[in-house]
Amino acid sequence: MYLDRFIVQNYRNLANIDTKFDPNVNIFIGKNAQGKTNLLEAIYFLALTRSHRTSSDRELIAFDKEFANIMGRIHKSQVNLDLRILITKKGKKVWINRVEQAKLSKYVGQLNAILFSPEDLDLIKGAPALRRRFMDQEFGQVNAEYLYFASKYRQVLLQKNNYLKQLSRGQAKDEVFLDVLSDQLSGIAAEIIFRRFKFLEYLSHAASDAYEHISLASEKLAIAYHPSVASIEVDDDTETIYQKILENFKKTKQMEIKKGTTLSGPHRDDIEFKLDGKNAHLYASQGQQRSIALSVKLAEIQLVHHLTDEYPLLLLDDVMSELDHGRQSALLDYIHGKTQTFITTTDLEGISWEIIKQPKVYHIK
Ligand code: ATP
Ligand code: MG
Repeated sequence: MYLDRFIVQNYRNLANIDTKFDPNVNIFIGKNAQGKTNLLEAIYFLALTRSHRTSSDRELIAFDKEFANIMGRIHKSQVNLDLRILITKKGKKVWINRVEQAKLSKYVGQLNAILFSPEDLDLIKGAPALRRRFMDQEFGQVNAEYLYFASKYRQVLLQKNNYLKQLSRGQAKDEVFLDVLSDQLSGIAAEIIFRRFKFLEYLSHAASDAYEHISLASEKLAIAYHPSVASIEVDDDTETIYQKILENFKKTKQMEIKKGTTLSGPHRDDIEFKLDGKNAHLYASQGQQRSIALSVKLAEIQLVHHLTDEYPLLLLDDVMSELDHGRQSALLDYIHGKTQTFITTTDLEGISWEIIKQPKVYHIK
């Protein structure tokens, strides 16, 4: 798929843009603070209805303006689509082919985009919450059921936690209602964990291939899922996972009441990146971690293609200059002719542009 016509109004410092992107490679060159990342963010927002930098949509509206507007025409192998998002201070609205969509979940997934920025190193180095957000964001954009269960889970988890707080403060007594909530939560959790295993298995293989390709090294990359309910295993079906979580909730019930919060489930799970079986978070060098992060992004491209038959857009924010020539060519070679790619950079130096054939270059001021 590719993004063709693109219109932006009042999005951060982007007052008014109306352009047609190149189906292959687009480069945004400019000094610092000109709006290069803003432009990538706007494309990402059009795809996922959320920013990778902030959870507050209000920040995206240009100072002193009432709304921000993003529109794009998407070409897919079967259809063309017109997407539109309007962000106001009250919230956002989305349209597909000029028909307003009541549910964001109907909209997300029409346009797929994978973004890679230097902060993605945090995926390996950072806290578990980042890796969970990574799964929810990336799996949600390719699997509508995942998106549905993830949002349902947040809802029921909040309800259960609120009730646990009431129980812990003695404001509620009825533990039967807690059991009902735990049962409901176990069912949804099982659907999420089952899918995480499945998608991670694919991602692990694809990332391992990509790692071999870009690092030119002999270590093997693998991704493992660590459920907070330790008895859950990779080949369990949803019913088994459900039973194991429910069982665990029964065991930890009094502890949960005491603490006033849900102690296990997908919101406490983690993933581990391993090089030759060793935890990359603890043992990998900076360069290896960078290669892992990049490999995971490349693997995501394959995952999107595997699940939707389309290649997603690839948004590369400030990453080219961080890669040595070997890895730059490996990266460009890997994506060549498959994904529409957007690259930001402050200068042309240090980048092997000869690998990119006839990109469309935008000077951002
Ligand atoms: P760098 O090379 O440093 O990464 P950049 O070109 O990627 O720079 P952006 O992150 O896109 O820069 O930001 C450009 C400018 O956007 C900043 O100067 C910031 O003040 C401005 N900006 C951010 N939010 C808003 C907003 N809501 N309204 C107006 N301007 C904004
Ligand atoms: Mg930037």
